[in-house]
Amino acid sequence: MKENDGPRRAIEHGFPHLATVRASITALFRRMSADGIRAHAPSFSPADAAFDASEDLHLGAQRLASAMVRALRLPEARMVVAFRPMDEAATVELTAGPEYFVEVNDRFRTHRRDLAAALSHEVAHVLLHRLELAFPDPAENEILTDTAAAYLGAGWLLLDAYREDALTHQRLGYLTPEEFGYVLAKRAALFDEDPSPWFTSPQAYEAYVRGSALAARDLRRAPLAAAGPAARRRYARARRCGLAPRDGSAYRFEPAGSGPALRVSFPCPVCEQRVRVPVGGRLRARCGLCRSVLDCDT
Ligand SMILES: [Zn+2]
Ligand SMILES: [Zn+2]
Repeated sequence: MKENDGPRRAIEHGFPHLATVRASITALFRRMSADGIRAHAPSFSPADAAFDASEDLHLGAQRLASAMVRALRLPEARMVVAFRPMDEAATVELTAGPEYFVEVNDRFRTHRRDLAAALSHEVAHVLLHRLELAFPDPAENEILTDTAAAYLGAGWLLLDAYREDALTHQRLGYLTPEEFGYVLAKRAALFDEDPSPWFTSPQAYEAYVRGSALAARDLRRAPLAAAGPAARRRYARARRCGLAPRDGSAYRFEPAGSGPALRVSFPCPVCEQRVRVPVGGRLRARCGLCRSVLDCDT
């Protein structure tokens, strides 16, 4: 896993990888099933992530790695953590297991507070490797790995490692801070948990708030019943014409077999898989993938 984009380069913000992040959440649901995802509660505990100078370096690193393996529900996997000088934050050798060799940057010997974050990304690599879930493009695969770590309860640490002050200028991983916030907010909604008290970095918390705002907008997209009046009006106009909306909304009207009946398809606000329902008023739809019940007004 890489560290900062470069010591003097500005940290990237916003949602440049949003499409891949959403595709990653869908891919996780497809590969792990709704029950498999829901088994990943609770999140990695802030107490388990604590690692201070009084603890033995190697025993402490092993303790963190074992806690991460448990948090990501990897039965029988054992991480062997070694410190060495390297450009990256950490790397892992993806083998058949059950033993996996993780190398972490020497700076974590003293900069211990973010070792759990670095391990969360590497252990997520092992999880995806065991699930045989990968995106063909290596850059997208790193997005999938960060998304998996965050969605499955360990990657809030990666966002918390994002710090900017007079002395530090750091981020870990491949998602922007806002994208981590978005994935964490999606997880928070699914698991009914609130990660906001866990953040030690004020910048991380602010990014979580910005990501949460986008996640909340997903729940107000037409034809969901919670859509706002302007979105509803645009939806009604598009429905009358049977056209694709021109405002970037993701719903699409399609003929339902023979006859004049219409169906509408739209991305599920939880897992982003497309849901298809008849057009014609208030209804509740169950997403076939994540099994969320969606209140719609089609
Ligand atoms: Zn990686
Ligand atoms: Zn869904």
